[in-house]
This record gives sequence, structure tokens and C-alpha cells, in this order.
Amino acid sequence: MCGVMAIIRKRGNVATELINGLNQLQHRGQDAAGIVSVDRSTGQFHCAKDRGLVSQVFHHANLEELTGEWAIGHVRYATSGSGGKREVQPTTAVMGRRQVSLSYNGHIVNYPQLRDRLKEERHFLSDSDVEVLLHVFCQNASLEEDAFESLIHGVSKIYEQVAGAYSVVGVIQGRGVFAFRDPRGIRPLLLARDPEGEGFAFCSETYPLTFLGYEQIEDVKPGEVVFIDEDGQIHRRQICKQSCRHCSFEYVYFAKANAQLEGFDVYRTRSNLGLAIGRKVKRLGLDVDVVMGVPATSQPAAMAAAWELGVRLEEGFLRKDHSGRSFILPTQEGRKQAVSQKLAPVSCVFEGKRVLIVDDSIVRGTVSKTIVAIARNCGAKEVYFASTFPPIRYPCFYGIDIYASDQLLAYEKDYEEIAREIDADAVIYNDLEDLQKAIGTAELCHACVNGKYPTDICDAKNMQELRREGICEREQKEQCTPATV
Ligand code: 5GP
Ligand code: SF4
Ligand code: MG
Repeated sequence: MCGVMAIIRKRGNVATELINGLNQLQHRGQDAAGIVSVDRSTGQFHCAKDRGLVSQVFHHANLEELTGEWAIGHVRYATSGSGGKREVQPTTAVMGRRQVSLSYNGHIVNYPQLRDRLKEERHFLSDSDVEVLLHVFCQNASLEEDAFESLIHGVSKIYEQVAGAYSVVGVIQGRGVFAFRDPRGIRPLLLARDPEGEGFAFCSETYPLTFLGYEQIEDVKPGEVVFIDEDGQIHRRQICKQSCRHCSFEYVYFAKANAQLEGFDVYRTRSNLGLAIGRKVKRLGLDVDVVMGVPATSQPAAMAAAWELGVRLEEGFLRKDHSGRSFILPTQEGRKQAVSQKLAPVSCVFEGKRVLIVDDSIVRGTVSKTIVAIARNCGAKEVYFASTFPPIRYPCFYGIDIYASDQLLAYEKDYEEIAREIDADAVIYNDLEDLQKAIGTAELCHACVNGKYPTDICDAKNMQELRREGICEREQKEQCTPATV
């Protein structure tokens, strides 16, 4: 899972604005960041990208070089390759007389097959799946005649050949900026207009666009190509119509609470999921003295669960400021340490109490096991653990780093076994019906819950192996570094 953004204006350099936008997308990827900017008149490309946070990658020196009225940017959360520097996006290729650069959010399921086929003719610079998209595109779009029609042709070949989730932004030398979304619309992508009519922006979430003053924010439709040409004219066409399968985990965990996805409010979804947890706890007849969330994603759900139950909401865990990511640290021991380091308990809240802890999800169980142990150490009498997302029992092949079932705590376990595994007195989960009601639509992907994948996954086994190898390579290269639960 990553974040992408693009800006195209009639005049003025846009890199600083793009960096401000990427800063607001940082929660979507903390491994690496990059920008390609393009001077409209000369067609010159400029690139700055590296591993690290937005604030670390962009500084005064490279900002001066990032001139141009058009730019695309990326924040990366690695779900393919080994997370090396060469895989940092945007990625650029030369197509005939023009340079083309792409950034994308998602994951390509048949990436190994496509790569094997393409490498006969094209030169790959990294292990990143974005290169597969770029090469399929470059093979099929000439960009010399009618740029929009040529773009449509290139993207329609991607739709024919590439299975997976992909929300893409790109820039073409001398032509303009474009964006498209896979036919199922698995990952989000939005389009917005500058109120003065000076330009357009694309982004993975709504808030960076609102923050930068853009208006008329709308979703790029699944299977739609949008192109802003060098004169600032917009061209758009939905070339592939299939039933939508938006990632439900975006609503529960990934997107910021203030985001709106496909017209639905993420905060409202999380709050509805908390109400559903409260109703379940009542139905199960569990007596609870205090409710608490696991900072920070689950707070709206915890507040709503407490309200539904009519019991106090307390702050059981204080989150260390500026704590980094724990979820994809390479070793399980590293993740455990990171969780306990960043969540400090407030003992008096637990002492002698029957506690309901609400988290957004249980994936590998690192957070839940650690948190329940902390609650017991602090003297909790009973510990109930609720997950607003249903049990995750299948891998995700669309850009969330859950690549194998055997990593998943709920795999082949019923609720009692899960509770035993994390040492809770009971676990409470929402089900798929609760999830759909809470979001307000049934046009969702929840393959990680029920194993029903919205695309072909024929090459999934191969991909799992590649991911395992990528992670091993990364483990060898890296020490655990502090990085968010
Ligand atoms: P677990 O600890 O069970 O492996 O993962 C669940 C916890 O990690 C939850 O607290 C959730 O907020 C967080 N989480 C779930 N998915 C991701 C992810 O892809 N990245 C990060 N950073 N955290 C995640
Ligand atoms: Fe999202 Fe799960 Fe579907 Fe992956 S499998 S796209 S995490 S809902
Ligand atoms: Mg969390």
C-alpha cells in the first residue's frame, strides 16, 4: 500500500505544493518517497527520490532542482521486491522520443509471469512491479499522434494483461499528466480542480487535496483514464466497466480517519463498526467496566463501543510521539519490541477492571498479544479483545503486506482458539455484514476475510515465494529500525 499524488498547473513550480501533499499522505507509506517534476516548455524531467520519510527525502538542495509545472509523487510501503533504493518511485522510461514516468499504489498479481515475458524485449532496472506496468504501457502507447487516444490504447492493454490492484499517476514529456484506476477500483484515487481554474490534482486520499485548497473532489472511476493535456484541458473515458471491489481494509485501517472514499466517510465507518462491537458485547452478555482503544486508528470505534455500552472510555495506552511503523519490521521479535516501546500503559485504568480493548484489526497478532499481556500485568481482572475488522484468514494480493495465510493469527482458528492464542477471556469480531453496513456499500473487496478474490490470482503462489525472498533479502540487509502500529 502506498500513496500517490500528481499536480498539473498552467504556471509556476509545483514541487513544494506536492511535497506538502505527500506529507499529508505519509501514513500510507513510510519506506521511501519520490517526485518527478517536468518543465512544461522544455520538457525537462527532474527527479528526487530516496528511502526515508518525506521530510528526510526532500530538502532545500533537491527542491531547487525540482522545477516545473507538472509533477507526480509517491510515498512507498513495500509489498514487492526487497524495498531497495532502486525500487523507489516514480519510475521513468523512454518511449520513442519521450520520457514517461509512473507512480502507483497497489500490487500486480501476475507480475512474475509478465516480467518473464517482457524481459525478453525490455530492460528492467529493479524488482519493483511498477516497471511491469510501465513496460506494458510503453509497448502499446505511441504518444506521437493523438496523445489521449494513444494513452487509452496503452491503458486498455494494461487492463487486458495486468491482474491486480493499481491506481496510477503518470507524466508524459511534452504531453501532460494522466491517471487511471484498475477495473475493480480496488485502491482509491481522486481527481480535484484548482478553484481558480489553474490546474488539477490527483491523490490517493481526499484530505491532502482539501488541505491544499482544491475543490470539486471526485473519485476517478474504476477502469477510467483521465488525461490533462499541455493546455490544461481535461479528457476522460471509462474504458472498462466491471463491478467495483473497493478494499474494505482502507476504511478500517489504511486511510486517514478524515478521508472520504467513494463518497463514504472513513470516520463514520469506524464509528459504526464500534457501535456494532458494542451491540455484540451486549448480546454475548459480557460485563465490561471500561473500554479503551489501541491508539490511534481504533479510537473512533472505541468511543462508539463505549457509548453503546454506556461505560467509561479510558485512555489505557499512551502512544509515544513520532513512533514509527512496527507492522512491517522484518522480524517478529522486532515488531513485538516496537509495539511495547511505543504503547505505554496507564496502570490505574486497568487495576481490578473488566476491560474491553478495541483495535481495528488482528493480523499476525503481534499487537493483540502484547496489549493483552500488558493489560494483565497492570492488574486487569478480565480482558476482552475486539477487532472491528472480521477475522483475516487469507492473504492479500493487492498491496497490503499479508502475503501468506500461515502468518495470520486467525488462519484455521475459531474464536475460542484465537482468544486462547492471545490470552484474552474472549474475542469479539464484526462480521462481513456489519462491515458492509458500516461502510454503506456492498461493492467491496474482502478477500482477506472470505478468500473470494476479485481478480485472477493464478500466479499467487509464485508471488508469495517472491515476496518471501524479498523479505529475507531485506532482513539480511537491515537492522530493525524504529518506525506505527
Ligand atoms: P497485528 O499486530 O495483529 O499483526 O496487526 C494488527 C495491528 O497492526 C493493528 O493494530 C493495526 O492497526 C495494525 N496494522 C494492520 N495492518 C497494518 C499495516 O499494513 N501496516 C501497519 N503499519 N499497521 C497495520
Ligand atoms: Fe483490502 Fe483485504 Fe481485499 Fe487486500 S484482500 S484489497 S486488504 S479487502
Ligand atoms: Mg493499530
